[in-house]
Amino acid sequence: MNNPWEWDGHEMHQHFTDGQISAEAIVQSHLRRIDEIDPDVRAFLAVDAEGALQRARVQDAWPLADRREHPLAGIPVAVKDNMVTQSMPTTAGSKILAGFRSPYNATVVDKLLNAGAIIMGKTNLDEFAMGSSTEHSAFQHTKNPWDLERVPGGSSGGSAAAVAARMVPMALGSDTGGSIRQPAAYCGIVGMKPTYGRVSRYGLIAFASSLDQIGPMTRSVRDARLLYRIIAGHDPHDSTSLNDIAEPPAVARDRFRIGIPREYFGEGMAPEVRDAVQRAMAGLKELGHELIDISLPHTEYAISTYYLIAPAEASSNLSRYDGIRYGMRSQARDLMGLYETTRDEGFGDEVKRRVLLGTHALSAGYYDAYYLTAQRVRTLIRQDFDQAFKQVDYIVTPTTPDQPFRFGERDDDPIKMYLGDIYTATANLAGIPGLSMPVGLANGLPVGLQWLAPPLADLALFDAAESLENQLGTMPWPVEVK
Ligand code: GLN
Repeated sequence: MNNPWEWDGHEMHQHFTDGQISAEAIVQSHLRRIDEIDPDVRAFLAVDAEGALQRARVQDAWPLADRREHPLAGIPVAVKDNMVTQSMPTTAGSKILAGFRSPYNATVVDKLLNAGAIIMGKTNLDEFAMGSSTEHSAFQHTKNPWDLERVPGGSSGGSAAAVAARMVPMALGSDTGGSIRQPAAYCGIVGMKPTYGRVSRYGLIAFASSLDQIGPMTRSVRDARLLYRIIAGHDPHDSTSLNDIAEPPAVARDRFRIGIPREYFGEGMAPEVRDAVQRAMAGLKELGHELIDISLPHTEYAISTYYLIAPAEASSNLSRYDGIRYGMRSQARDLMGLYETTRDEGFGDEVKRRVLLGTHALSAGYYDAYYLTAQRVRTLIRQDFDQAFKQVDYIVTPTTPDQPFRFGERDDDPIKMYLGDIYTATANLAGIPGLSMPVGLANGLPVGLQWLAPPLADLALFDAAESLENQLGTMPWPVEVK
Protein backbone atom coordinates (compact mmCIF):
# COMPACT_ATOMS: atom_id res chain seq x y z
CA MET A 1 0.00 0.00 0.00
CA ASN A 2 1.33 3.45 -0.84
CA ASN A 3 1.18 6.43 1.53
CA PRO A 4 -2.34 7.19 2.76
CA TRP A 5 -1.89 10.85 1.84
CA GLU A 6 -1.62 9.88 -1.81
CA TRP A 7 -5.18 8.50 -1.86
CA ASP A 8 -8.27 10.49 -2.66
CA GLY A 9 -11.02 10.76 -0.05
CA HIS A 10 -12.96 7.82 -1.49
CA GLU A 11 -9.96 5.53 -1.15
CA MET A 12 -9.28 6.62 2.43
CA HIS A 13 -12.88 6.01 3.42
CA GLN A 14 -12.90 2.68 1.60
CA HIS A 15 -9.74 1.36 3.26
CA PHE A 16 -10.92 2.60 6.64
CA THR A 17 -14.38 1.04 6.37
CA ASP A 18 -12.85 -2.22 5.11
CA GLY A 19 -10.78 -2.28 8.27
CA GLN A 20 -7.52 -2.20 6.34
CA ILE A 21 -6.19 0.92 8.03
CA SER A 22 -7.00 2.87 11.16
CA ALA A 23 -8.20 6.46 11.08
CA GLU A 24 -5.30 7.23 13.42
CA ALA A 25 -2.80 6.00 10.83
CA ILE A 26 -4.49 8.08 8.12
CA VAL A 27 -4.41 11.18 10.30
CA GLN A 28 -0.82 10.57 11.43
CA SER A 29 0.37 10.27 7.87
CA HIS A 30 -1.30 13.58 6.95
CA LEU A 31 0.10 15.32 10.03
CA ARG A 32 3.58 14.18 9.03
CA ARG A 33 2.96 15.40 5.51
CA ILE A 34 1.83 18.80 6.87
CA ASP A 35 4.95 18.99 9.08
CA GLU A 36 7.12 18.24 6.10
CA ILE A 37 5.49 20.41 3.43
CA ASP A 38 3.66 23.25 5.13
CA PRO A 39 6.70 25.19 6.35
CA ASP A 40 7.26 25.87 2.61
CA VAL A 41 3.69 26.05 1.31
CA ARG A 42 2.09 27.80 4.33
CA ALA A 43 -1.44 26.72 3.58
CA PHE A 44 -2.60 26.39 7.20
CA LEU A 45 -3.29 29.13 9.72
CA ALA A 46 -4.05 26.52 12.40
CA VAL A 47 -3.61 22.75 12.63
CA ASP A 48 -5.56 20.86 15.28
CA ALA A 49 -3.34 17.80 15.60
CA GLU A 50 -4.66 16.78 19.02
CA GLY A 51 -8.31 17.20 18.07
CA ALA A 52 -7.84 15.28 14.83
CA LEU A 53 -6.04 12.38 16.52
CA GLN A 54 -8.65 12.20 19.25
CA ARG A 55 -11.46 12.01 16.72
CA ALA A 56 -9.58 9.39 14.75
CA ARG A 57 -9.23 7.21 17.85
CA VAL A 58 -12.95 7.52 18.55
CA GLN A 59 -13.70 6.35 15.00
CA ASP A 60 -11.23 3.49 15.31
CA ALA A 61 -13.39 2.15 18.13
CA TRP A 62 -16.46 2.10 15.85
CA PRO A 63 -17.56 -1.23 14.39
CA LEU A 64 -17.23 -1.36 10.59
CA ALA A 65 -20.98 -0.87 10.15
CA ASP A 66 -20.83 2.45 12.03
CA ARG A 67 -17.91 3.57 9.94
CA ARG A 68 -19.90 2.92 6.78
CA GLU A 69 -22.81 4.95 8.05
CA HIS A 70 -20.59 8.04 8.06
CA PRO A 71 -19.73 8.90 4.44
CA LEU A 72 -16.70 10.99 5.45
CA ALA A 73 -15.40 8.72 8.24
CA GLY A 74 -11.63 8.47 8.20
CA ILE A 75 -11.21 11.41 5.81
CA PRO A 76 -9.11 14.42 6.86
CA VAL A 77 -10.67 17.72 5.73
CA ALA A 78 -9.44 21.32 5.94
CA VAL A 79 -11.70 24.34 6.36
CA LYS A 80 -11.09 27.84 5.02
CA ASP A 81 -10.61 30.19 7.93
CA ASN A 82 -13.72 32.28 7.23
CA MET A 83 -16.01 29.51 8.51
CA VAL A 84 -16.48 29.59 12.24
CA THR A 85 -15.35 26.71 14.45
CA GLN A 86 -15.68 26.24 18.19
CA SER A 87 -12.58 24.11 18.48
CA MET A 88 -10.18 26.53 16.75
CA PRO A 89 -9.92 30.30 16.35
CA THR A 90 -11.41 31.90 13.22
CA THR A 91 -9.51 34.85 11.75
CA ALA A 92 -10.89 35.41 8.23
CA GLY A 93 -7.27 36.28 7.48
CA SER A 94 -7.66 39.55 9.36
CA LYS A 95 -5.99 41.12 12.37
CA ILE A 96 -9.32 42.58 13.40
CA LEU A 97 -10.56 39.17 14.59
CA ALA A 98 -7.51 38.59 16.82
CA GLY A 99 -8.54 36.59 19.86
CA PHE A 100 -12.00 35.78 18.49
CA ARG A 101 -13.43 32.37 19.27
CA SER A 102 -16.83 31.46 17.90
CA PRO A 103 -19.42 30.16 20.36
CA TYR A 104 -20.89 27.95 17.61
CA ASN A 105 -19.91 26.00 14.49
CA ALA A 106 -20.85 27.00 10.96
CA THR A 107 -23.57 24.70 9.61
CA VAL A 108 -21.13 23.23 7.08
CA VAL A 109 -18.70 22.41 9.89
CA ASP A 110 -21.40 20.58 11.85
CA LYS A 111 -22.39 18.75 8.70
CA LEU A 112 -18.79 17.66 8.14
CA LEU A 113 -18.53 16.43 11.71
CA ASN A 114 -21.84 14.57 11.56
CA ALA A 115 -20.66 12.83 8.40
CA GLY A 116 -17.49 11.65 10.18
CA ALA A 117 -14.96 14.06 8.66
CA ILE A 118 -11.78 14.65 10.62
CA ILE A 119 -11.13 18.38 10.61
CA MET A 120 -7.39 18.95 10.41
CA GLY A 121 -7.15 22.72 10.51
CA LYS A 122 -8.05 26.12 9.11
CA THR A 123 -6.58 27.40 5.87
CA ASN A 124 -5.19 30.75 4.81
CA LEU A 125 -7.14 33.26 2.71
CA ASP A 126 -7.11 36.83 1.53
CA GLU A 127 -8.46 39.03 4.31
CA PHE A 128 -12.26 38.54 4.47
CA ALA A 129 -11.92 36.58 1.18
CA MET A 130 -11.14 39.76 -0.76
CA GLY A 131 -8.49 38.89 -3.28
CA SER A 132 -7.14 36.44 -5.81
CA SER A 133 -3.71 35.49 -4.48
CA THR A 134 -3.67 35.19 -0.64
CA GLU A 135 -1.31 38.17 -0.73
CA HIS A 136 -3.94 40.11 1.19
CA SER A 137 -3.89 37.71 4.15
CA ALA A 138 -2.78 39.59 7.29
CA PHE A 139 -0.68 36.57 8.32
CA GLN A 140 1.17 34.82 5.50
CA HIS A 141 1.40 34.20 1.79
CA THR A 142 0.49 30.69 0.70
CA LYS A 143 2.75 29.33 -2.06
CA ASN A 144 1.64 27.48 -5.15
CA PRO A 145 2.79 23.83 -4.84
CA TRP A 146 3.65 23.85 -8.57
CA ASP A 147 6.05 26.75 -8.19
CA LEU A 148 6.77 28.23 -4.78
CA GLU A 149 7.56 31.63 -6.31
CA ARG A 150 4.00 31.91 -7.53
CA VAL A 151 0.61 32.56 -5.92
CA PRO A 152 -1.85 29.70 -5.38
CA GLY A 153 -4.72 32.00 -6.34
CA GLY A 154 -7.32 33.15 -3.90
CA SER A 155 -9.06 33.86 -1.88
CA SER A 156 -9.28 30.13 -0.98
CA GLY A 157 -5.56 29.73 -1.76
CA GLY A 158 -4.80 27.90 1.49
CA SER A 159 -7.43 25.24 0.85
CA ALA A 160 -6.33 24.83 -2.79
CA ALA A 161 -2.64 24.50 -1.92
CA ALA A 162 -3.34 22.09 0.97
CA VAL A 163 -5.29 19.78 -1.34
CA ALA A 164 -2.85 20.04 -4.26
CA ALA A 165 0.14 19.34 -1.99
CA ARG A 166 -1.58 16.26 -0.52
CA MET A 167 -1.79 17.67 2.99
CA VAL A 168 -5.54 16.84 2.94
CA PRO A 169 -7.65 15.17 0.25
CA MET A 170 -10.55 17.60 0.66
CA ALA A 171 -11.18 21.13 1.79
CA LEU A 172 -13.95 23.68 1.93
CA GLY A 173 -13.60 27.02 0.20
CA SER A 174 -15.92 29.95 -0.35
CA ASP A 175 -16.63 31.67 -3.64
CA THR A 176 -17.98 35.20 -4.04
CA GLY A 177 -16.52 35.99 -7.46
CA GLY A 178 -14.31 32.98 -8.16
CA SER A 179 -12.51 32.22 -4.90
CA ILE A 180 -13.02 28.45 -5.14
CA ARG A 181 -12.65 28.04 -8.90
CA GLN A 182 -9.68 30.32 -9.55
CA PRO A 183 -7.34 28.83 -6.89
CA ALA A 184 -8.51 25.36 -7.96
CA ALA A 185 -7.44 26.22 -11.51
CA TYR A 186 -4.12 27.68 -10.34
CA CYS A 187 -3.30 24.64 -8.18
CA GLY A 188 -4.51 21.93 -10.58
CA ILE A 189 -7.45 20.63 -8.51
CA VAL A 190 -11.26 20.46 -8.73
CA GLY A 191 -13.28 23.29 -7.18
CA MET A 192 -17.02 23.79 -7.31
CA LYS A 193 -19.31 26.72 -6.50
CA PRO A 194 -22.87 25.51 -5.94
CA THR A 195 -26.06 27.25 -7.04
CA TYR A 196 -26.66 30.24 -4.77
CA GLY A 197 -28.69 28.97 -1.81
CA ARG A 198 -27.80 25.28 -2.06
CA VAL A 199 -25.30 25.44 0.80
CA SER A 200 -25.97 27.23 4.08
CA ARG A 201 -23.95 30.39 4.73
CA TYR A 202 -24.68 30.24 8.47
CA GLY A 203 -21.32 30.69 10.15
CA LEU A 204 -19.55 31.80 6.97
CA ILE A 205 -18.08 35.22 7.71
CA ALA A 206 -20.00 37.40 5.29
CA PHE A 207 -18.24 39.20 2.45
CA ALA A 208 -21.02 39.85 -0.11
CA SER A 209 -24.10 38.00 1.03
CA SER A 210 -25.92 37.85 -2.30
CA LEU A 211 -22.89 36.23 -3.95
CA ASP A 212 -21.15 34.10 -1.28
CA GLN A 213 -21.37 30.29 -1.50
CA ILE A 214 -19.36 27.54 0.20
CA GLY A 215 -18.17 24.63 -1.93
CA PRO A 216 -15.83 21.63 -2.20
CA MET A 217 -12.14 21.62 -3.26
CA THR A 218 -10.69 18.18 -3.98
CA ARG A 219 -8.37 16.25 -6.29
CA SER A 220 -11.07 14.20 -8.01
CA VAL A 221 -14.55 15.00 -9.28
CA ARG A 222 -16.02 12.11 -7.28
CA ASP A 223 -14.62 13.55 -4.05
CA ALA A 224 -16.08 16.97 -4.90
CA ARG A 225 -19.50 15.37 -5.45
CA LEU A 226 -19.26 13.51 -2.15
CA LEU A 227 -18.35 16.64 -0.20
CA TYR A 228 -21.03 18.66 -1.98
CA ARG A 229 -23.72 16.10 -1.08
CA ILE A 230 -22.78 16.40 2.58
CA ILE A 231 -22.84 20.18 2.80
CA ALA A 232 -25.83 20.97 0.53
CA GLY A 233 -29.37 21.33 1.82
CA HIS A 234 -31.79 23.64 3.57
CA ASP A 235 -30.78 25.24 6.85
CA PRO A 236 -33.34 27.05 9.01
CA HIS A 237 -30.49 29.30 10.22
CA ASP A 238 -29.97 30.74 6.72
CA SER A 239 -33.09 32.20 5.19
CA THR A 240 -31.42 32.38 1.76
CA SER A 241 -30.79 28.64 1.76
CA LEU A 242 -33.15 26.88 -0.62
CA ASN A 243 -35.76 24.42 0.51
CA ASP A 244 -34.75 20.87 -0.13
CA ILE A 245 -35.69 20.08 -3.65
CA ALA A 246 -34.98 17.21 -5.95
CA GLU A 247 -32.26 18.42 -8.27
CA PRO A 248 -33.03 18.03 -11.95
CA PRO A 249 -31.69 14.69 -13.17
CA ALA A 250 -28.46 14.53 -15.10
CA VAL A 251 -28.83 15.56 -18.71
CA ALA A 252 -30.70 12.63 -20.20
CA ARG A 253 -28.70 12.26 -23.35
CA ASP A 254 -25.24 11.02 -24.14
CA ARG A 255 -24.45 13.91 -26.43
CA PHE A 256 -24.40 17.11 -24.43
CA ARG A 257 -25.01 20.41 -26.14
CA ILE A 258 -22.13 22.48 -24.83
CA GLY A 259 -22.12 26.24 -25.33
CA ILE A 260 -18.81 27.97 -25.97
CA PRO A 261 -19.31 31.68 -25.26
CA ARG A 262 -17.24 33.72 -27.68
CA GLU A 263 -16.86 36.56 -25.14
CA TYR A 264 -14.81 34.19 -22.92
CA PHE A 265 -12.08 33.73 -25.47
CA GLY A 266 -11.36 37.35 -26.14
CA GLU A 267 -8.48 39.69 -25.70
CA GLY A 268 -6.39 39.38 -22.53
CA MET A 269 -6.32 35.59 -22.57
CA ALA A 270 -2.94 33.90 -22.44
CA PRO A 271 -2.28 31.81 -25.59
CA GLU A 272 -1.17 28.78 -23.49
CA VAL A 273 -4.48 28.83 -21.64
CA ARG A 274 -6.38 29.06 -24.90
CA ASP A 275 -4.44 26.11 -26.33
CA ALA A 276 -4.95 23.87 -23.30
CA VAL A 277 -8.66 24.66 -23.13
CA GLN A 278 -9.09 24.10 -26.85
CA ARG A 279 -7.38 20.72 -26.54
CA ALA A 280 -9.86 19.77 -23.82
CA MET A 281 -12.70 20.99 -26.02
CA ALA A 282 -11.48 18.74 -28.81
CA GLY A 283 -11.62 15.91 -26.26
CA LEU A 284 -15.25 16.78 -25.53
CA LYS A 285 -16.02 16.51 -29.22
CA GLU A 286 -14.33 13.13 -29.33
CA LEU A 287 -16.62 12.04 -26.51
CA GLY A 288 -19.48 12.80 -28.89
CA HIS A 289 -20.64 16.10 -27.43
CA GLU A 290 -21.76 18.95 -29.60
CA LEU A 291 -19.95 22.29 -29.20
CA ILE A 292 -22.11 25.27 -30.00
CA ASP A 293 -20.92 28.82 -30.47
CA ILE A 294 -22.97 31.08 -28.17
CA SER A 295 -22.94 34.67 -26.99
CA LEU A 296 -23.23 36.08 -23.47
CA PRO A 297 -23.37 39.69 -24.60
CA HIS A 298 -23.16 41.46 -21.24
CA THR A 299 -19.93 39.76 -20.18
CA GLU A 300 -17.94 42.93 -20.71
CA TYR A 301 -19.81 44.60 -17.83
CA ALA A 302 -19.28 41.75 -15.37
CA ILE A 303 -16.19 43.09 -13.64
CA SER A 304 -17.55 46.60 -13.08
CA THR A 305 -20.85 45.14 -11.90
CA TYR A 306 -19.18 42.71 -9.52
CA TYR A 307 -16.81 45.35 -8.16
CA LEU A 308 -19.76 47.60 -7.29
CA ILE A 309 -22.08 45.01 -5.78
CA ALA A 310 -19.47 43.02 -3.83
CA PRO A 311 -17.84 46.07 -2.15
CA ALA A 312 -21.27 47.63 -1.48
CA GLU A 313 -22.39 44.52 0.41
CA ALA A 314 -18.98 44.22 2.07
CA SER A 315 -19.06 47.78 3.37
CA SER A 316 -22.33 46.98 5.07
CA ASN A 317 -21.29 43.52 6.33
CA LEU A 318 -17.99 44.77 7.74
CA SER A 319 -19.57 47.57 9.76
CA ARG A 320 -19.95 45.07 12.62
CA TYR A 321 -16.18 45.09 13.27
CA ASP A 322 -16.16 48.08 15.54
CA GLY A 323 -13.88 47.03 18.38
CA ILE A 324 -16.83 46.33 20.65
CA ARG A 325 -18.35 43.07 19.55
CA TYR A 326 -15.61 40.88 18.12
CA GLY A 327 -11.88 40.39 18.35
CA MET A 328 -9.43 43.21 18.61
CA ARG A 329 -9.95 46.56 20.37
CA SER A 330 -7.59 49.51 20.02
CA GLN A 331 -6.94 52.09 22.73
CA ALA A 332 -8.72 55.42 22.30
CA ARG A 333 -10.00 58.38 24.31
CA ASP A 334 -13.66 58.14 23.28
CA LEU A 335 -16.09 55.80 21.58
CA MET A 336 -15.79 57.32 18.11
CA GLY A 337 -12.02 57.18 18.42
CA LEU A 338 -12.23 53.55 19.48
CA TYR A 339 -14.22 52.61 16.36
CA GLU A 340 -11.85 54.53 14.11
CA THR A 341 -8.58 53.32 15.54
CA THR A 342 -9.73 49.70 15.74
CA ARG A 343 -10.82 49.71 12.10
CA ASP A 344 -7.75 51.61 10.99
CA GLU A 345 -5.36 49.23 12.75
CA GLY A 346 -7.38 46.07 12.22
CA PHE A 347 -8.18 46.17 8.49
CA GLY A 348 -5.63 45.82 5.70
CA ASP A 349 -5.42 48.08 2.65
CA GLU A 350 -7.50 45.95 0.30
CA VAL A 351 -10.36 45.70 2.80
CA LYS A 352 -10.23 49.45 3.35
CA ARG A 353 -10.29 50.02 -0.41
CA ARG A 354 -13.43 47.88 -0.72
CA VAL A 355 -15.19 49.53 2.21
CA LEU A 356 -14.48 52.95 0.69
CA LEU A 357 -15.63 51.86 -2.77
CA GLY A 358 -18.77 50.25 -1.41
CA THR A 359 -19.71 53.12 0.88
CA HIS A 360 -19.29 55.52 -2.00
CA ALA A 361 -21.42 53.39 -4.34
CA LEU A 362 -24.21 53.31 -1.75
CA SER A 363 -24.06 56.97 -0.70
CA ALA A 364 -26.88 59.43 -1.39
CA GLY A 365 -26.43 61.00 -4.78
CA TYR A 366 -24.38 58.10 -6.15
CA TYR A 367 -26.65 55.18 -5.29
CA ASP A 368 -28.66 55.39 -8.53
CA ALA A 369 -25.65 55.87 -10.73
CA TYR A 370 -23.63 53.01 -9.23
CA TYR A 371 -25.37 50.47 -7.03
CA LEU A 372 -28.77 50.56 -8.71
CA THR A 373 -27.27 50.48 -12.18
CA ALA A 374 -25.08 47.54 -11.17
CA GLN A 375 -28.14 45.65 -9.94
CA ARG A 376 -29.85 46.23 -13.28
CA VAL A 377 -26.83 45.01 -15.21
CA ARG A 378 -26.71 41.99 -12.92
CA THR A 379 -30.20 41.10 -14.14
CA LEU A 380 -29.04 41.41 -17.76
CA ILE A 381 -26.12 39.09 -17.06
CA ARG A 382 -28.48 36.55 -15.53
CA GLN A 383 -30.77 36.82 -18.53
CA ASP A 384 -27.81 36.14 -20.83
CA PHE A 385 -27.45 32.77 -19.10
CA ASP A 386 -31.22 32.10 -19.09
CA GLN A 387 -31.21 32.62 -22.85
CA ALA A 388 -28.13 30.47 -23.40
CA PHE A 389 -29.45 27.55 -21.35
CA LYS A 390 -32.53 27.37 -23.57
CA GLN A 391 -30.13 26.29 -26.27
CA VAL A 392 -27.41 24.31 -24.44
CA ASP A 393 -27.09 21.92 -21.47
CA TYR A 394 -23.75 23.25 -20.25
CA ILE A 395 -21.35 26.08 -20.93
CA VAL A 396 -17.61 25.50 -21.03
CA THR A 397 -15.01 28.27 -20.63
CA PRO A 398 -11.49 28.76 -19.35
CA THR A 399 -11.62 29.33 -15.57
CA THR A 400 -9.09 32.14 -15.73
CA PRO A 401 -7.56 34.15 -18.57
CA ASP A 402 -4.06 33.41 -17.27
CA GLN A 403 -1.89 31.16 -15.10
CA PRO A 404 -0.46 31.59 -11.59
CA PHE A 405 1.49 34.84 -11.41
CA ARG A 406 4.52 35.71 -9.28
CA PHE A 407 4.20 37.24 -5.83
CA GLY A 408 4.08 41.01 -6.04
CA GLU A 409 3.30 41.05 -9.74
CA ARG A 410 -0.24 42.45 -9.30
CA ASP A 411 -0.14 43.61 -5.72
CA ASP A 412 0.08 47.30 -6.55
CA ASP A 413 -2.28 47.17 -9.52
CA PRO A 414 -5.76 46.33 -8.17
CA ILE A 415 -7.44 46.72 -11.55
CA LYS A 416 -5.15 44.14 -13.08
CA MET A 417 -5.90 41.81 -10.18
CA TYR A 418 -9.67 42.38 -10.54
CA LEU A 419 -9.66 41.67 -14.28
CA GLY A 420 -8.56 38.10 -13.58
CA ASP A 421 -12.08 37.41 -12.23
CA ILE A 422 -13.67 37.98 -15.63
CA TYR A 423 -14.73 34.36 -16.30
CA THR A 424 -15.75 33.43 -12.77
CA ALA A 425 -17.65 36.42 -11.32
CA THR A 426 -20.53 36.03 -13.81
CA ALA A 427 -21.68 32.74 -12.23
CA ASN A 428 -21.97 34.45 -8.83
CA LEU A 429 -23.88 37.37 -10.32
CA ALA A 430 -26.25 34.93 -12.05
CA GLY A 431 -26.45 32.53 -9.08
CA ILE A 432 -25.63 29.49 -11.24
CA PRO A 433 -23.28 26.61 -10.34
CA GLY A 434 -19.74 26.45 -11.70
CA LEU A 435 -16.94 23.90 -11.50
CA SER A 436 -13.26 24.21 -12.37
CA MET A 437 -11.24 21.12 -13.24
CA PRO A 438 -7.62 20.72 -14.31
CA VAL A 439 -7.11 20.00 -17.99
CA GLY A 440 -3.35 19.77 -18.12
CA LEU A 441 -0.22 21.85 -17.82
CA ALA A 442 1.27 24.70 -19.78
CA ASN A 443 4.77 25.91 -18.92
CA GLY A 444 4.71 23.41 -16.06
CA LEU A 445 1.71 25.15 -14.47
CA PRO A 446 -1.90 23.95 -14.33
CA VAL A 447 -4.72 25.21 -16.54
CA GLY A 448 -8.35 25.06 -15.40
CA LEU A 449 -11.48 24.55 -17.45
CA GLN A 450 -14.82 25.78 -16.15
CA TRP A 451 -18.21 24.11 -16.52
CA LEU A 452 -21.34 26.18 -15.95
CA ALA A 453 -24.87 24.80 -15.65
CA PRO A 454 -28.39 26.14 -15.11
CA PRO A 455 -29.54 26.89 -11.55
CA LEU A 456 -29.89 23.70 -9.45
CA ALA A 457 -28.13 21.47 -11.98
CA ASP A 458 -25.27 21.06 -9.50
CA LEU A 459 -25.15 17.27 -9.61
CA ALA A 460 -25.32 17.28 -13.39
CA LEU A 461 -22.19 19.43 -13.33
CA PHE A 462 -20.21 16.68 -11.58
CA ASP A 463 -21.38 14.10 -14.09
CA ALA A 464 -20.24 16.19 -17.03
CA ALA A 465 -16.89 17.02 -15.46
CA GLU A 466 -16.32 13.38 -14.57
CA SER A 467 -16.68 12.23 -18.16
CA LEU A 468 -13.95 14.64 -19.22
CA GLU A 469 -11.81 13.70 -16.22
CA ASN A 470 -11.97 10.03 -17.24
CA GLN A 471 -10.91 10.92 -20.71
CA LEU A 472 -8.01 13.16 -19.64
CA GLY A 473 -6.60 10.72 -17.07
CA THR A 474 -4.71 11.67 -13.92
CA MET A 475 -3.05 15.03 -13.44
CA PRO A 476 0.69 14.89 -12.78
CA TRP A 477 2.00 15.84 -9.33
CA PRO A 478 3.03 19.33 -8.30
CA VAL A 479 6.78 19.26 -8.79
CA GLU A 480 7.79 21.35 -5.79
CA VAL A 481 6.23 19.04 -3.18
CA LYS A 482 6.97 15.60 -4.64
N1 GLN B 1 -11.13 37.74 -6.51
C1 GLN B 1 -12.45 38.18 -6.21
C2 GLN B 1 -12.40 39.34 -5.24
O1 GLN B 1 -11.35 39.76 -4.92
C3 GLN B 1 -13.28 37.06 -5.67
C4 GLN B 1 -13.11 36.79 -4.23
C5 GLN B 1 -14.02 35.72 -3.72
O2 GLN B 1 -14.62 34.98 -4.48
N2 GLN B 1 -14.13 35.65 -2.40
O3 GLN B 1 -13.40 39.84 -4.80
